[in-house]
Amino acid sequence: MLSQIKQKILTKQRITFEEGLFLYNSNDLLTIGSLGKLAREIKSGKEKSKWVYWNKNLHLNPTNVCIGRCNFCAFAKLPNDKGAYTYTIDEALEHVRRGVNSGAGEVHIVGGLNPKAALPYYTELLKAIKQTFPSLHIKGFTAVEIDFFSKLKKITPRETLELLIDAGLNSLPGGGAEIFSKSVRDTTCPDKIPAQTWLEIHNTAHKLGLKSNATMLCGIGEKAEDRLDHMIRLREQQDKSKGFQTFIPLHCHYEDTEIAGKIEPVTAFDSLKNIAISRIILDNFDHIKAYWIQLGTGLAQIGLNFGADDLDGTIQEESVTHAAGAGKKGLEKDFIQRLIEDAGYIPVERDTVYNVLAVAGC
Ligand code: SF4
Repeated sequence: MLSQIKQKILTKQRITFEEGLFLYNSNDLLTIGSLGKLAREIKSGKEKSKWVYWNKNLHLNPTNVCIGRCNFCAFAKLPNDKGAYTYTIDEALEHVRRGVNSGAGEVHIVGGLNPKAALPYYTELLKAIKQTFPSLHIKGFTAVEIDFFSKLKKITPRETLELLIDAGLNSLPGGGAEIFSKSVRDTTCPDKIPAQTWLEIHNTAHKLGLKSNATMLCGIGEKAEDRLDHMIRLREQQDKSKGFQTFIPLHCHYEDTEIAGKIEPVTAFDSLKNIAISRIILDNFDHIKAYWIQLGTGLAQIGLNFGADDLDGTIQEESVTHAAGAGKKGLEKDFIQRLIEDAGYIPVERDTVYNVLAVAGC
């Protein structure tokens, strides 16, 4: 079966659910990794097959107050909990200023579902950011947040997106997808929008001209079948709307979460399979990310040889994953470039929508 899958990759034929399941059930990690790498080389083309992208970015999490009940989340607080916060516009701008002063060209904005931080708060925030830092790219709001703002204001997600675009929104991140399987969603994040709504909001964003990303959160009780179902639904959506740039496989960090100690964590072996298999299955996604903040820099670096072509960026000011125990906060440009070079690749600094800003050594 592995040689049959290799042949299909070489001849650009689509890999099926059953073939993906065969890969998940195999322990031949190095062969699976080599297939992921092969798929990446074919997708990137000869000239770019050695390129690995990174960018200078900053995360802004304007509020951790959330009415959601996701059992894998250590970030959310109730309004009166110790540590609950909602930034004023000035405080949020101060965070952004620190990132911009360090060179960030993108701000990634996500936060809790806080009824007191509704659409007017965010349109004011986006306008203030654009007024102060006109060239900063604003990548903001998961589909879950877009749906939440829409319901609070009693308008459609399309109208919400249009208001946010008018205020300065440039693209959407890929969060809130978790695992599309209804049974896993019902157990882990019962208040979150169903898969179909998540996909429809991205479809609408693509139609409005926004690029977006897509994540998959592993280690929350899903099976390999659920991961494949997730990827194949994304592949089908991408066939229709073509606006996804990057797929980002994530694994849960459990510290201070409800499910800490109750669930089998994702192993390094499994994380590397996710990278390789997603590259093989998602033949219509240009980029697969080895998200260093989730994987750790060591595993992310290995992921570059399993089919990933992006490490994300310098990531200043992030709070969501760090609330659940992720290690390092923020990377220096030189260190990111060294991670890429030591893995045998050429660091390419990009902007959010993959315009090339600098190719190392050129
Ligand atoms: S994952 Fe998001 S929606 Fe769920 S509880 Fe945490 S902040 Fe709220």
